[in-house]
Amino acid sequence: MPQDVYDKVIMLAKRRGFIYPSFEIYGGVAGLYDYGPLGSQLKNNLENLWRYFYIYKDSCLEINTPTITLYDVLEASGHVDEFTDLTVDCEDCKLSFKVEDIIEDESSIQQAIKDETLICPTCGGKLINPHPVNLMFATKIGIGKTRDAFLRPETAQGIFTGFHLLYRYAREKLPFGVIQLGKGYRNEVSPRQGPIRMREFSMAEAEVFFDPNNKSHKNFSEVKDHILYLYDNESEFQLTMEDAVSKGVINNQALSYYMYLTQTILIQGGVDPKKFRFRKHADDELAHYAEECWDAELFSERFGWVECVGIADRSAYDINAHIEASKTDMYAMRRYESPKIVKHKKIVPKMNILGPKLKDKAGDIKAIIDEMEVTGQIENLTIPFEGEEYLIPKDAYDVVEVEEKEAGEKFIPHVIEPSYGIDRILYCILEHNYKEIEKENESYHLLSLPYQMAPIKTGVFPLIKDESLTCISEKIDKTLREHGISTSYDETGTIGRRYARMDEIGTPFCITVDHDTLDDKKVTMRNRDTREQERIDIDALPDFFKKQK
Ligand SMILES: [Zn+2]
Repeated sequence: MPQDVYDKVIMLAKRRGFIYPSFEIYGGVAGLYDYGPLGSQLKNNLENLWRYFYIYKDSCLEINTPTITLYDVLEASGHVDEFTDLTVDCEDCKLSFKVEDIIEDESSIQQAIKDETLICPTCGGKLINPHPVNLMFATKIGIGKTRDAFLRPETAQGIFTGFHLLYRYAREKLPFGVIQLGKGYRNEVSPRQGPIRMREFSMAEAEVFFDPNNKSHKNFSEVKDHILYLYDNESEFQLTMEDAVSKGVINNQALSYYMYLTQTILIQGGVDPKKFRFRKHADDELAHYAEECWDAELFSERFGWVECVGIADRSAYDINAHIEASKTDMYAMRRYESPKIVKHKKIVPKMNILGPKLKDKAGDIKAIIDEMEVTGQIENLTIPFEGEEYLIPKDAYDVVEVEEKEAGEKFIPHVIEPSYGIDRILYCILEHNYKEIEKENESYHLLSLPYQMAPIKTGVFPLIKDESLTCISEKIDKTLREHGISTSYDETGTIGRRYARMDEIGTPFCITVDHDTLDDKKVTMRNRDTREQERIDIDALPDFFKKQK
């Protein structure tokens, strides 16, 4: 079978320690991959580039929350009901397939089943029983008395469930953004697209909270003339950010700002701009939580346009869901010029009754009751606390009307979420930078990774294995490492071979120490892309690398 670029990239990735299937000695598992030594470095470099833009350009706050997530959280967020794929089963071999992969128009599935026109791609058997399956990995927390949980399908919910604390941390001012990098999980039905469709994957997400009345962005005016590469499902076109917003192609400044950040990060990370576009979701493909969504798509020769980043306006959906399900005050406040006097009802617990009944929990439960809003008639007052529901009897509280000063009006903030699939981006970066070169009748691979992304910044070679040269080379290698510059020391094979080994893993420079070095204290610096060589003072090497971008 002729190899396509996917096969070639995957072979190189395995051979040189970028990425390879996990647990291969036991047959491997579709959708699980290891990052090897170079892959881990490459991934760190992309994640740090991403952090640079979100933390330093956009002042987001970074947090880390558990990958194990309570059932209640994902029930409230809609994932228990909605995070599903329509699936069919094979009558003969019992394998299951995503309907989306089997038939173009999902809505015609029932008819196709009736007509018996659907054939199992593996054994040719009849496909039956279309049904939605939930894609979350279920688990339990604890032994004996357990709580249901899932491995998280996105990092976002960990941010939403702490919103009230983060809002306080941000001194109750909107907008502010919170970011999280980490693993997400999706029990894919039958993944066959390598690193494009993984069951455990790395995500980088930002949740940026806005007042729904104001989705402007403070940095917009600085970058409004930047051109975005857009696609509206009919044609590809380019617009400045300012035009895109004023013509209503993109709903608001904030959305367009995060599209700009995304485009910049990806192109700096090594994505080929000709293989990049933002595609707008049609109304019928929006996720259950989204109001408007743009995907950053990267072109792959085997897979076509691949969705790698989703930038969605999730509106008030998630925080509203968690307020309703958890009864926690997660509102934001729009402050009045001067406080207003308002009357409302409050529950006042009688601690002489409640205290003996609830013992050491009484204080915490009183605090929850004090925070509660009373609307309408109270039937059964139950308070959720530490996974239990506490029924508060009618004789244990009064409902009183109180006058209070109100400092402002409460509202649910809106969320704009740029969500990055790190593994897909990394695969596309490898594919976009993979080149085959004929050299002296030998074919030769090169990864033209940008300096910032390259796992190794320079090779360090003594021209020959002679102690006078190896000793200087080793010293250069050590000095560069101490400056935080990743190196690869190599003294075996011809210089041509050593260059080739470095080109293949995207190393932008190689340093060679030769006999002239002993006299002039200079080395030969070879540039991967131009193949040019120049002589540089040994002492000037750390600065040379620090100046690279
Ligand atoms: Zn079958």
